[in-house]
Amino acid sequence: MPEKKSTCPKCVQQSIRNKEDLIAKTEKSYGKIPSDEYLELWKKSKKDLYHNDTLSQISSTYFDEDDGRLVVSFKCECSVCGFIYNYNKELNVLEG
Ligand SMILES: [Zn+2]
Repeated sequence: MPEKKSTCPKCVQQSIRNKEDLIAKTEKSYGKIPSDEYLELWKKSKKDLYHNDTLSQISSTYFDEDDGRLVVSFKCECSVCGFIYNYNKELNVLEG
């Protein structure tokens, strides 16, 4: 089965939370910490969100022409946060 790599949605969510926390921390620190420390925080808070191809995806679709059976499966796993998702569905297209 072909394997595809993409960005992990869990890692993106964590990255958004981290960025929001950092922005809040930066705003609270204004005028309260040395300017070089503030500048460092500010730079970090401007960093881009997480986008690395750490999510391996394997998916397949099987259709049996003889009996109308459709089998769809999807599996993904992130090498950074360990997020795993499995989806398997089997149905018969003749039964609606
Ligand atoms: Zn992840």
